[in-house]
Amino acid sequence: MAKHERVLVTGAGGFIGHHLVRRLRAEGHWVRGADLKYPEYEASEANEFELLDLRRWDNCLLAVRGVEQVYNLAADMGGIGFITAYHADIARNNILINAHMLEASRIQGIKKFLFSSSACVYAQSKQKDADVSPLKEEDAYPADPEPGYGWEKIYTEQLCTYYQQDYGFETRIARFHNVYGPLGTYEGGREKAPAAICRKVALADNDDTIEVWGDGQQTRSFMYVDDCVEGLLRLMASDYRVPLNLGTDRLVTVDELVDLVCAVAGKRLHKQHDPSKPQGVRGRNSDNGRIRRVLGWEPLVPLEQGLAVTYRWIERELIAKGRMQLARAERP
Ligand code: NAD
Repeated sequence: MAKHERVLVTGAGGFIGHHLVRRLRAEGHWVRGADLKYPEYEASEANEFELLDLRRWDNCLLAVRGVEQVYNLAADMGGIGFITAYHADIARNNILINAHMLEASRIQGIKKFLFSSSACVYAQSKQKDADVSPLKEEDAYPADPEPGYGWEKIYTEQLCTYYQQDYGFETRIARFHNVYGPLGTYEGGREKAPAAICRKVALADNDDTIEVWGDGQQTRSFMYVDDCVEGLLRLMASDYRVPLNLGTDRLVTVDELVDLVCAVAGKRLHKQHDPSKPQGVRGRNSDNGRIRRVLGWEPLVPLEQGLAVTYRWIERELIAKGRMQLARAERP
């Protein structure tokens, strides 16, 4: 990306958007953030931050004024408990945001528009085994995505493609696989598995039992947020116009994820599995053949390293809120 570009980040009050704003500013760009809310855990570094409901067309026109690039990260989303509970709200809210943001960006003459898609677009029929084959980009079709959230993402991917074909509008499409890191939601119902597990482990005493959703044998891959941001910048700078996986290809079970967090925390805990809780598809992994070819790069941060940073941040948050004693945090 050329220096001193004018950039809009939507969803800048959220987890990935907030990290992306910080990185873009560090690289010398002028950044406007837009969201329904300010970031929860620290102030945004955006040059301007506007509170806007981007489901509304007039607000999308306001958000894109005077910028050259758009990273469209705003979405109504959460972990598996949230996205399986609210199909109508999620699909309606997100299609309004994405359709209006695309059209407002085209009218404004934006040079490049990046859409944050998801591994939830992949066909459910190809994710029935914990020992799943890594998903190649073409495995999204024939379409059979996650209800609600996944259908909206795959439709907006198509909409981006139609905008390229009909208007020559430059779009980039990243399919994120489970992003985690500090400054992300860790409680309240929208949190995702790594943050929820860090919270549960932090709040437990040695030898306690923590609840794990499903039977713990469901598998996923997890990407540290700095890798996600790096991938977004590289994809935006590239001329690659079709969907691209952005994730790691290290498959772990949810039980293994719990064990890794326990190791970081220095705690020995027992797991109580609750198969009645949603677990999503049985197994999901990213095939990184295409990202290696297209970007000459793939996410690098080892899970142990990223979880250590994430766990320590959540632990500090819980201590600051008086939910956890320092002594418990320090106990081996
Ligand atoms: P997040 O929930 O932390 O951030 C999304 C932000 O969008 C929130 O701050 C929210 O307030 C904002 N938003 C929602 N509705 C809005 C509206 N009507 N107008 C303006 N802003 C609105 O989520 P995140 O993890 O940072 O995700 C960012 C993007 O990445 C989303 O598009 C998400 O679907 C995608 N994604 C994330 C993951 C992940 O693991 N975190 C995985 C796949 C895809």
